[in-house]
Amino acid sequence: MSDFIFAAQQGRKIPKEDKNFAVNNRAKAMIAEKGKDAVVNATIGVLLDEEGKFVVLSSVNEVFKTLEAGEFAEYAPIGGIPGYKAAVLKDTFGSYEPKRHTVAVATPGGTGAIHSTIANYSEPGDKVLLTDWYWGPYGTIAGEIGRSLHTFKLVNEQGRFNTEDFEKQVMALLEVQDRLVIILNTPAHNPTGYSLTVDEWEEVASVLDRVPEEKKVTLLVDVAYLDFAGEAEEYRAFLPVLDSMGENILPVIAYSFSKSFTLYGMRCGAMICMAETEEIADEFRKVCEYSARAAWSNCTRAPQVMLSKIYENPDLLARIQEERAGFRDMLLRRGKAFEAAAKEAGLEIVPFDAGFFASVPCENPDAVGAELEKEGIFTIPLTMGVRISIASITEADCRRLPARILAAIEKVNK
Ligand code: PLP
Repeated sequence: MSDFIFAAQQGRKIPKEDKNFAVNNRAKAMIAEKGKDAVVNATIGVLLDEEGKFVVLSSVNEVFKTLEAGEFAEYAPIGGIPGYKAAVLKDTFGSYEPKRHTVAVATPGGTGAIHSTIANYSEPGDKVLLTDWYWGPYGTIAGEIGRSLHTFKLVNEQGRFNTEDFEKQVMALLEVQDRLVIILNTPAHNPTGYSLTVDEWEEVASVLDRVPEEKKVTLLVDVAYLDFAGEAEEYRAFLPVLDSMGENILPVIAYSFSKSFTLYGMRCGAMICMAETEEIADEFRKVCEYSARAAWSNCTRAPQVMLSKIYENPDLLARIQEERAGFRDMLLRRGKAFEAAAKEAGLEIVPFDAGFFASVPCENPDAVGAELEKEGIFTIPLTMGVRISIASITEADCRRLPARILAAIEKVNK
């Protein structure tokens, strides 16, 4: 029996209300009732400054204002304008020159890249492998096209990447599937702030070296938070590891304009393959463009022209990098403050490196979230704990929150 009136059910269960929006609405209602100072809204997934204002890089805004009608009104080619595709590669790889065959295809945000990778590199009914702490929309994206998720444990008892469970789950899925899409969201993982070190990347590579050669693995690296994780080159140091993988492993990087250029609403991203052969790279271009035509046709032209212009002008690029570094450092200070305060309070958090979010493992996350709301602290309850957006709260609140979260956990789970 369908619970839809007119629409096709297609096996979907759509919740009555989006949980995250509901928490956010309650936060807004409390602000209206009790005032801004009575509320800490740690639910928002965008960067706010210390005054609570939405951060837009002014240097990027300046470029936007130089656009002429023809530059944004015209259709873009399906795979993206040539200048954009070249700039995306430079922006992603930095000073590193990949040895493999790279092809970039424009997508509407990182979300489009995730959708297209799953759609083109897995079969209906397949399971997609990812960490047990994960960004909810991965499940929605996979489910909409008849795939489901399978998880491995992100960290082991020592608080390091759980290579053992990763290997176990990769091999178990490859017993029953000929191909496998794996999603690794790093650095500055949403929702935990975890980043794989280069050593951990080497471990991932050595597991994938043991994949039987008749099986095909697509390794989707979601780098949505790359430019807010820390020093640009340091956080790109894992890229050579992707180059070293076997022919039956296809790394695909999901690139997003949303955070790096503070242009979330522009819906601009790209999927970049690092293919061992030219044939695999050509096929990547062909299938991704074909499926783009069927889903969103071409992507928004304005941000593509903007990135092309930014990469044609070294002074402008340097200005953007400098301005971004200022906000990145503000975010890193908040992360460090939260981590230090958690340690001091004796609050266990998922090992945190950097990024927009941190997570606290706990029993009964919904009840813990509700308890915190009573005190005006709004978080996102997940399956295994609560997520705190450090991107949207002040450094002072990052210092205050851990003790209060611990108290709420103790109260709920006593
Ligand atoms: N991946 C992760 C982990 C995210 O948190 C987000 C956005 O919140 C995205 C990808 C995609 O963002 P967009 O589609 O705006 O590029």
